[in-house]
Amino acid sequence: MQVPLLELTSQNGALSNELNAACARVLASGQYIMGPEITGLEAECSEWIGCKHALGVSSGTDAILLILMGLGIGPGDEVIVPSFTFFATAGCVSRVGATPVFADCCSRCFNMRRSDVEPLITERTKAIMPVHLFGQSAPMDELLALAEERGLALIEDAAQAIGSTYKGRQVGSMGTAGAFSFFPSKNLGGLGDSGLVTTNDDELADRMTKLRVHGGHARYYHDMIGGNFRMDPLQATLLRIKLPHLQSYIDRRRQNAAFYHDALAAEPGVITQSTSSDCECNEADARLILPVESKGHLHTYNQFTLRVRGEGQRDAVFAHLQAHNIGCAIYYPVPLHQQKCFANLPSAGSTLPHTEQLAQEVLSIPIYPELGTDQLAFVADALKNFLQNK
Ligand SMILES: *Cc1c(COP(=O)(O)O)cnc(C)c1O
Repeated sequence: MQVPLLELTSQNGALSNELNAACARVLASGQYIMGPEITGLEAECSEWIGCKHALGVSSGTDAILLILMGLGIGPGDEVIVPSFTFFATAGCVSRVGATPVFADCCSRCFNMRRSDVEPLITERTKAIMPVHLFGQSAPMDELLALAEERGLALIEDAAQAIGSTYKGRQVGSMGTAGAFSFFPSKNLGGLGDSGLVTTNDDELADRMTKLRVHGGHARYYHDMIGGNFRMDPLQATLLRIKLPHLQSYIDRRRQNAAFYHDALAAEPGVITQSTSSDCECNEADARLILPVESKGHLHTYNQFTLRVRGEGQRDAVFAHLQAHNIGCAIYYPVPLHQQKCFANLPSAGSTLPHTEQLAQEVLSIPIYPELGTDQLAFVADALKNFLQNK
């Protein structure tokens, strides 16, 4: 049996009649830039997410960039970001001329907490950017309270987490602004690049609407220096067909996660959800730590990320799964504070213990919605087999 880490053609293939018809509609419409498909998707997304404004953009990366530009963040400013995340979170901060300041994270839920952020705040700090990593919301109450107390913007990097909730609230609806990605492997995957910006702030929405098209509402009149961050109508029309299925994709991801939990929880050395407190558990004898879903959080499992304890053990599991034709990946092997491109930052050389530990221990296994029960069982058996034979 083969179990790829990701397989996109079954999900899109199941909708091929509708997707083909939508392509034909855009082809015949002659409207290839902006227009009703974009405004339609924006209205549907703002309703889904429960926010006042949603703007379709060219990618998740550009969504983050546009928010930073819209907030006027630039040279001399600092933005606190987690080190354990995808590159774009911090890369965009540097691209607007500001300085990313890297925070550590919780080794259990993988997210940046108030206690990671607070000691890093200086008079230059303008914003904090929690990432809802792997599809689980960061602890928003404490982060929102901190941002409020210190007068900082809070940007939600929700690229991996559309549909995830925190105490019943959708990610991307809680902070100053939210950034989403429709990269094909995300919870709502397009057939190419695109993204979305959300906010409840009318003025910020207006500035970002201008910045998306070179900084002005009227063509050839420029109030600000913007760029081209537009989403294609073709992408919007395809996403409008997939959006009504998003909840079912999320349900399937959650069912797959539950399958792994049920199959592995009783194995010796496996740690699952801690019963006492969200992010504390006794890891002393642990060999394999399954991802936790914190209380009040709805995890959408864009990734199902294990921690394999013990020197060299993660790489041994990786090789074992590969030998069984099971796809897996390390998100992320090198924390951002250790990346070459950030070596000249003032914070270079700082130590972030949880982040550095996670880079050694994490391993993401197949979790995409269309996995069959036989495939899930095959992956779980391969992991059990590894645990029993060592
Ligand atoms: C995917 C991702 C992005 C960037 O999205 P793109 O659409 O690929 O540009 C940003 N942040 C995080 C955490 C991501 O996972």
